[in-house]
Amino acid sequence: MQQELAERPSHAGQIVLVTGGGQGIGAAIARGFARRGAKVGLVDAVPGRAESMATELGGAGATADVADFAALEKAIRELEEKLGGRFGTLVNNAGISPKHDGRAHGAWEMAPEEWQRVVGVNLNGCFHAIRLLVPGMMQAGRGAIVNMSSVAGRTYSVVVGAHYAATKAALIGLTKHLAGELGPHGIRVNAIAPGRIDTPLIRTVDDAVNAGQVAATPLRRLGRPEEVADLALYLASEEASFVTGQVVDVAGGMMMT
Ligand code: NAD
Repeated sequence: MQQELAERPSHAGQIVLVTGGGQGIGAAIARGFARRGAKVGLVDAVPGRAESMATELGGAGATADVADFAALEKAIRELEEKLGGRFGTLVNNAGISPKHDGRAHGAWEMAPEEWQRVVGVNLNGCFHAIRLLVPGMMQAGRGAIVNMSSVAGRTYSVVVGAHYAATKAALIGLTKHLAGELGPHGIRVNAIAPGRIDTPLIRTVDDAVNAGQVAATPLRRLGRPEEVADLALYLASEEASFVTGQVVDVAGGMMMT
């Protein structure tokens, strides 16, 4: 039976994995879950980053590149051991958008290695975490997955490359397909499509480019990582118990850049 809103628990009892949780949006999501009582595990590719966030939050952190299946598997099993249970919630947040100089480099001039690296992290990395965690969720008969897509997965954006756009679009397809496959097992799968959010990722581009992005955003500002975190927390909560296969924008109304 549905619980009344006021009676609903926070995220207490959830064991949550946040990939790329060492800074930016992932760190805000990890903080949000920890504040609401979840046990949080983090992985990040930069050595020490997940571990120091975990110290701040009282969770567990490990260094791993999500593009490397074996390394991610090792990290996840270590984290589950430390947290005392299997992950029932997955936030597939790790992602990269190669630096650029104010103009997105065309696909025709990209090194194949650069293309493959972006696909390896942004798309394969999500599959890897899903492959590693879904069997446990199926056994439990419940679970929630949130994939970090982007408005750039739906439309042209001057600030990203074709590789980034293609991976973020792929995450939308992955989300919808998995929602169909996993719904009968009690596992919900949704995606978030952020617009321009103020994190270290976007500080790699020059101010004029970010000003252009703000001008293309009806709310006329950059988003805050916490504003993305609020949606991730909702999608992973009991409050969203009948929500699956959805892609929700947190973009200040931005639709086209
Ligand atoms: P960020 O660069 O500030 O933080 C990303 C974190 O992920 C970093 O700590 C980084 O070390 C980690 N990471 C990168 N590659 C990794 C890998 N291979 N394995 C494990 N960890 C890895 O970025 P952010 O702005 O917080 O972005 C988080 C997610 O949100 C990304 O998927 C990004 O594409 C997406 N997104 C961001 C924006 C934005 O405007 N900031 C907009 C749309 C979507």
